[in-house]
Amino acid sequence: MKILVLNCGSSSLKYQLIDMENESVLAKGICEKIGMDGSMISHNPSGKEGFKNRQEAMPDHKAAVKLVIDALLDKEVGVISDMKEIDAVGHRVLHGGKYYSESIVVNEDVKRVIRECFDLGPLHNPANLIGIEACEALMPETPQVAVFDTAFHQTMPQKAFMYALPYEYYEKYAIRKYGFHGTSHRFVSARTIDFLGLDKNNSKVIVCHLGNGASLSAVQNGKCVDTSMGLTPLEGLVMGTRSGDLDPAVVQYIANKENRSVDDVLNILNKKSGVLGISGVSSDFRDLDAAATSGNERAKAALDMFVYRIVKYIGSYAAAMNGVDAIAFTAGIGENDSKVRAAICSYLGYLGVKIDEEQNKLRGKENVISAPDSKVKVAVIPTNEELAIARETLALI
Ligand code: ADP
Repeated sequence: MKILVLNCGSSSLKYQLIDMENESVLAKGICEKIGMDGSMISHNPSGKEGFKNRQEAMPDHKAAVKLVIDALLDKEVGVISDMKEIDAVGHRVLHGGKYYSESIVVNEDVKRVIRECFDLGPLHNPANLIGIEACEALMPETPQVAVFDTAFHQTMPQKAFMYALPYEYYEKYAIRKYGFHGTSHRFVSARTIDFLGLDKNNSKVIVCHLGNGASLSAVQNGKCVDTSMGLTPLEGLVMGTRSGDLDPAVVQYIANKENRSVDDVLNILNKKSGVLGISGVSSDFRDLDAAATSGNERAKAALDMFVYRIVKYIGSYAAAMNGVDAIAFTAGIGENDSKVRAAICSYLGYLGVKIDEEQNKLRGKENVISAPDSKVKVAVIPTNEELAIARETLALI
């Protein structure tokens, strides 16, 4: 059983072909600059040479999907000999609105909902739908599954997902907290429960997904009860380039002072803020650490703010769940940056968190990093969104 996983962004398409017999990646790659000049594809087959940044015309996502399939079938760099070997396609879809709390096999209704949610995910949902329709055209017999980034968070209670705005905006425009990275939060919280031997039906887990985009979730008895991202991924933590939480009046203030539109300011909050904006150095934590170590005060401030915001969210989720059994770190920073993990945990003595410094030094592998007498278990649980999408796809077909 082979499953193709597609993740269509506004101008990119990432793919992996996964053999579900042993969950191995047969090939992976990325198409970039779709719809622009200089579009290119990189293809990395397992066990042989692929190619990097090969210039190919990609006027739209359909052309990109066609190039991906050509690469997978290619005599030299390919990994399958017939398109029929692809048993299903799993699509990462950003926004499922309030409609889906699970992944679902694509049909006309599902496509209508993805279209209805264009306003909520204006950069991603149109690309996701084009990816689905391109696959339908190129491989009409192959089942397609939509795996929504928002789905896992649909179990949040109303008190957690509502904003205190006039109720009519919720009714008219469905303005509320949705949350993102749901595939990762689902995968990591479930794995944390298994790995630590917790009783799922009596468990309180906080998942810290710390990548370029970053979010926390509170997962009680296997279900999400709160998460830090909101209507869009801008809410919550200080991120690589996103501001996270701030007083909404800041938007008006910057717009007036800099003579910019609201859209311009939102662009600044999404792309030029976060640790990049504060440090002026980089959004990459390896660069920030190097700068902070060599005495750059703004890089130090950026790291302190990143950690402090996470610590405040952990405290609020421990309060919301009336306790916490385990904290899991995942994604690029969560899996690799032992300094950030140690800095976060250094605030959590009041919860009874104690870190084992030697274990915390290990990077990128599943590991318990709390000391044996820590009241709360702390673990590193690598996420794998593509594999999670492939597993959910397999389960549905
Ligand atoms: P996304 O999928 O949101 O783009 P990732 O989960 O891949 O993000 O995480 C990317 C981030 O992980 C990088 O920006 C970098 O800051 C951080 N990162 C990756 N490797 C390391 C490392 N060895 N040490 C510290 N940070 C790292």
